[in-house]
Amino acid sequence: MYKFIVDRMVCKLGRWLRIFGYDTKMIKEEHDERYGREDDGLMLKIAEEEGRILVTRDVALFREAVKSGREAVCIKANSLEEQILELKKSLDINIDLKMDRCTICNGDIVPEDNLDELYEKDYVPKKLISRGEKFWKCAKCGQIYWMGTHWDNMKEKVKKIEEFQKF
Ligand SMILES: [Zn+2]
Repeated sequence: MYKFIVDRMVCKLGRWLRIFGYDTKMIKEEHDERYGREDDGLMLKIAEEEGRILVTRDVALFREAVKSGREAVCIKANSLEEQILELKKSLDINIDLKMDRCTICNGDIVPEDNLDELYEKDYVPKKLISRGEKFWKCAKCGQIYWMGTHWDNMKEKVKKIEEFQKF
């Protein structure tokens, strides 16, 4: 399965790669004192050390990555939908929604069965628990997830992208 590192200009695309289940680092979340505010060097370093595909809108950085033998994709489209399609065309990524990666921190998401704790600590609306909703928890940052209207909206978006793809 592909692993990615994405630049600041395609953060939204990066979050969606996590929704599709891909291990995705975002440069805005990475810190390395050796590089300071200079993103390009750090992106290239992470791509190389961790075997990640570099996703960027910066043509110069893209060329530099390819020249040094790293796998990279240069995104041209402005809209999220078209960006997802661009990536799908070049790498044939899977665009099914997966509940297994945290969109906030890239951690693994696991089913959360401790409903008593969710209830007591007010982590989620109580009515969700009483109507038998299923929950997941990020093993790294503790974020709680469930399939609500947000999930339905995301499914709609994916359906649109798939239809768009046929033309
Ligand atoms: Zn998390």
